[in-house]
Amino acid sequence: MSWTDLARNGRILVVDDAMENIQILHHALREEHEVLFALDGEQALQIALEQQPDLILLDAVMPGMDGYAVVAALRSSPRLQDIPVIFVTALSRPEDETRALEAGAVDFISKPFNVAVVRARVRSQLTIKRQADAMRELSMTDGLTGVANRRNFNDKIDAEWRRCARAGLPLSVIMIDIDHFKLYNDHYGHQAGDACLVDVAAAMKRCASRPQDMLARYGGEEFILLLPQEAADGAEVVANRILEEVRKLALPHAASLTAPHITVSMGLSTIQPQDHIDPNSVIRNADANLYRAKQTGRDRYCISLDS
Ligand code: GH3
Ligand code: MG
Ligand code: MG
Repeated sequence: MSWTDLARNGRILVVDDAMENIQILHHALREEHEVLFALDGEQALQIALEQQPDLILLDAVMPGMDGYAVVAALRSSPRLQDIPVIFVTALSRPEDETRALEAGAVDFISKPFNVAVVRARVRSQLTIKRQADAMRELSMTDGLTGVANRRNFNDKIDAEWRRCARAGLPLSVIMIDIDHFKLYNDHYGHQAGDACLVDVAAAMKRCASRPQDMLARYGGEEFILLLPQEAADGAEVVANRILEEVRKLALPHAASLTAPHITVSMGLSTIQPQDHIDPNSVIRNADANLYRAKQTGRDRYCISLDS
């Protein structure tokens, strides 16, 4: 099996203060998985942050930070809380097992190990993790266009709002609506309408590609673009790019009252986030500007004068 296949079968972090135990587990798992190891709790958390393993095999009893403390730290970190943990321990009383599961472990393996049991339990936890990842991805994505859905956007704007408030950085949003899309559906049919949404979403996605940017489908033919740390002039650059990319698609729209091809209208809004201001205020403002763009001829953006 190649190294990349191993990675696909899951990256496992083994945490144990005894090198001998690490070696046994490494030996048991290395043929099917990529195996990382750590000799104490602090090292485990650091490696977990850097390498994002799919599963952690964690010794309960270690000097310094013990397994229970490591699980508690994992569960309270947004970047680590979804990594499943199997406790591995010589403690084998029911109350030890209960304590491990209550601390947030997903399974419990007793020492001395039975290698076949370790392999089987690891495999089953990795399968569950993969399914959970796929479900999470689906629940955050719009099924038609593949961009973020509205719930995902709401979580993201809340997080970025707080981040920008702390850092004293602005935040911009662009509300985007396809022009005369009802007429497009009426003229070309609903399936063509769907295909158009997919193309327009992909084109807009190309216009804002910084890691913190997020394009989401906000309603039927309405999209919203979140641009954290972006001032009004930067948002205007992106809006102009969107106008150009959508024009370049040159999707014929014979029924449009604006142009012979698909166009979009946009409302921009920029704000300095503060903890006591509701993030919805910037969305409402962008929506009002979108309305103005529609009123003043479509195929354009409007930006608030006070932003
Ligand atoms: P305006 O330029 O003022 O935005 O006009 P409009 O026709 O685009 O706006 P309106 O809100 O009247 O109509 C939106 C249309 O978008 C109506 C609806 O059938 C269509 N639509 C919404 N969601 C979907 C979808 O998922 N697929 C398709 N094909 N059409 C959709
Ligand atoms: Mg529309
Ligand atoms: Mg609309």
